[in-house]
Amino acid sequence: SHWEKRVAKSARRSSPSSLSVLVTGAAGFVGSHVSLSLKRRGDGVVGLDNFNRYYDPALKRARQRLLDRAGVFVVDADLNDSALLRKLFDVVPFTHVMHLAAQAGVRYAMQNPQSYIHSNIAGFVNLLEASKSANPQPSIVWASSSSVYGLNSKVPFSEKDRTDQPASLYAATKKAGEEIAHSYNHIYGLSITGLRFFTVYGPWGRPDMAYFFFTKDILKGKQITIFESLDGGTVARDFTYIDDIVKGCLGALDTAKKSTGSGGKKKGPAQFRVFNLGNTSPVPVSELVAILEKLLKVKAKKKVLPMPTNGDVKFTHANISLAHRDLGYRPTTDLETGLRKFVKWYLEFYSKKSSW
Ligand code: NAD
Repeated sequence: SHWEKRVAKSARRSSPSSLSVLVTGAAGFVGSHVSLSLKRRGDGVVGLDNFNRYYDPALKRARQRLLDRAGVFVVDADLNDSALLRKLFDVVPFTHVMHLAAQAGVRYAMQNPQSYIHSNIAGFVNLLEASKSANPQPSIVWASSSSVYGLNSKVPFSEKDRTDQPASLYAATKKAGEEIAHSYNHIYGLSITGLRFFTVYGPWGRPDMAYFFFTKDILKGKQITIFESLDGGTVARDFTYIDDIVKGCLGALDTAKKSTGSGGKKKGPAQFRVFNLGNTSPVPVSELVAILEKLLKVKAKKKVLPMPTNGDVKFTHANISLAHRDLGYRPTTDLETGLRKFVKWYLEFYSKKSSW
């Protein structure tokens, strides 16, 4: 069929040693960047995304057109469509799955809790089911989140630190995902790597994130709200630039071992790994705003309020020595450099949006 031909063409790789990757969430922020990088270096890439309306679908469609021009086909489907996934694995013998589809965002759970269960729990299980039944069984790399550290107050966060106090339903579903992944690794011999991303930002970013809507509101002259913690401590994030995150994702794919297909029984246990991907340099939200004011050459109208209990944590800071050792991960972009690239993209994109 027409669909199968497009999928097969998109999956073509430059050499037999190149990877063949299914990227879920390919029309999303991180997924679109990862897909383009894989394609550029010669890997076969097929995307999957349901183009949901959590944020402006026009932005997802614009990313899709970018991917289309690069030769990456994005299948418009939901993770929960088992028949579709089975068909996809039948058409392409994927060596890897890069799973980046999810219901992201912390605060939206108060409006739509079920969307987190649908995408992050049910959808993830459905993808694992399809992967364990596929021949060959792909190795899986997927996005967990720094939010699993929750109310843990020990910083910087290391992979071995406690993750038993999620501060939001989003965090709880990511933590559940890590444990579900472990069970599939143990029983079905799937090789699985979880990446705990720390506040990813950059061009083609997500409109629901603070750096993005601060930029929009500052340019409009609209007041922005900055939250301060009740105990007087700084509210800060370990902002991590998209290109650094992409390198970490590719490092994880390149070092992923093959799934063994047999749990621990025949060929030894399959690989199970978890890594922090952060920048190791937390920046207070007040400084984020100061950098944006400088880059936009506009003074922000600021209102400072105590931080509400809405699922956000006060402070994030990654220890990345494990990812450095095993994935060769070394972030190189400071916040001002990365935001300059974001602002440049933002101004271009929204000045000629109709041509995208
Ligand atoms: P994003 O929302 O831009 O991308 C996710 C994509 O998945 C979207 O395009 C969405 O349409 C798609 N999707 C959602 N549910 C789906 C479903 N059921 N079936 C098919 N497609 C579905 O988010 P992002 O920032 O690119 O995040 C990528 C991953 O990284 C997510 O797992 C997210 O939780 C995780 N993460 C992101 C950050 C960050 O700061 N951006 C931080 C930590 C973790």
